[in-house]
Amino acid sequence: MIIDTTTLEFVDVDDIKKTYMEEDTPVMSELLRTYRGLSVDDVNELLAWSGDSEYVSVSDIIDVKKCAYCGKELNRDNMEFTRDCYGIPYRLVCFDCWDELMENGYDGQRYYDGIDEYVDYY
Ligand SMILES: [Zn+2]
Repeated sequence: MIIDTTTLEFVDVDDIKKTYMEEDTPVMSELLRTYRGLSVDDVNELLAWSGDSEYVSVSDIIDVKKCAYCGKELNRDNMEFTRDCYGIPYRLVCFDCWDELMENGYDGQRYYDGIDEYVDYY
């Protein structure tokens, strides 16, 4: 089976990044063996075939963001903004935290009650 990794669509980039950061050499070797298009440079930086005649640093092509709630570092694709009680994006969190934070239907400050609303509008 030929796996086209030029776009890294078949590669779980979070796993690669995590593995790379943990410097787990046996797993890295397995990844490099399994996925054509991955390589390492002379300072052991993980590289991916860009599909354009060159290798690029994986850390350059993966948009890694930190979850604003649990602090985990993840691929941006695996994160979502919570919404506050007005539906405005509030903070970028991982899916696990999103489910927890949005349990009540919104994140951040709770709905104002009637008295607060009068204060706001005058
Ligand atoms: Zn999180």
